[in-house]
Amino acid sequence: MTPYEISRRDLFLASSAIAGGLAMSQVMSEPATAAVPLSGAKSPGFKRFKLGDFEITTLLDGLRPSDGPFPTFGADQSQEKVGELMRANFLPETKFVNGFAPVLINTGSELILFDTGFGAAGRDNGFGQLEANMKAAGYTPDQVSTVVITHMHGDHIGGLMNGDTPGFANARYIAGQIEYDFWTDPARTGTPAEAGAKGVAAKVKPLAEKTTFIKAGDAIVSGITSEAAYGHTPGHMIFHVESAGKRVVLTADTANHYVAALQHPEWEVAFDTDRAKGIETRKRVLDMIATDRVPFIGYHMPFPSAGYLERLGSGYRFVPVTYQFDV
Ligand SMILES: [Zn+2]
Repeated sequence: MTPYEISRRDLFLASSAIAGGLAMSQVMSEPATAAVPLSGAKSPGFKRFKLGDFEITTLLDGLRPSDGPFPTFGADQSQEKVGELMRANFLPETKFVNGFAPVLINTGSELILFDTGFGAAGRDNGFGQLEANMKAAGYTPDQVSTVVITHMHGDHIGGLMNGDTPGFANARYIAGQIEYDFWTDPARTGTPAEAGAKGVAAKVKPLAEKTTFIKAGDAIVSGITSEAAYGHTPGHMIFHVESAGKRVVLTADTANHYVAALQHPEWEVAFDTDRAKGIETRKRVLDMIATDRVPFIGYHMPFPSAGYLERLGSGYRFVPVTYQFDV
């Protein structure tokens, strides 16, 4: 019996029921089809943008639900004040989901990956999805020609090495000299930065010979230039990307909560190595993005991680990218 015949029959029964004086609700309570199990399939973990002659793809490494955003964000504010801002922006007051999004840029001659997620070690916790999402986006890790590291926190360098094996077999690497010098300085031993230093020793140091250590302001390829954005870490850098007159800024970890850090760039962030410098950098970079009306991609912005900034009071409102790259 085809579904069409079933529906015709149901229709007939329904008409009969009405004719027989039965309440319509009794008829409607009969399910028309069998129950379907909840799919549970994950949302796509990549998003493609066209920028001039470049193809840009954001790749989701994973999502981390946790408590927050206070006291990580608004570390110098009251919990009530941060909660109030969340409520005003339709967000839960004490729950936070952080995303992690490396960026892949195909310039036509190079395939450049900015940051590497948590890597294989993160998979037990649902991270390390970069490789799977890269494949879904049509690329493989061994096609990556250059890996750029914006700064050396674990969620950015974790994918560089899978145990003793490089995660990107054919890549060269670009990282900041100041950043590398900070994390490999023996003076980190016994400080809060010691765990981070161990991560750099395991993930970055084995690749040091293949790494070009740059200073802020250096170009990495034609059209992609670094800029100092110190504070989140001592050598944290952002990248200006330009092709055929179109621009986007990769802001990495300059601002890491799309409401707290953008609407209140002056609030302290506990993740920032130098909180005052983090604030100063956030204000400068966000002002540039709003003034120039350019889109930006932030590593921890809501996936697919791309947006604009509209001035709002003394801060900014995040305006997600929609079809601006498709026209
Ligand atoms: Zn980060």
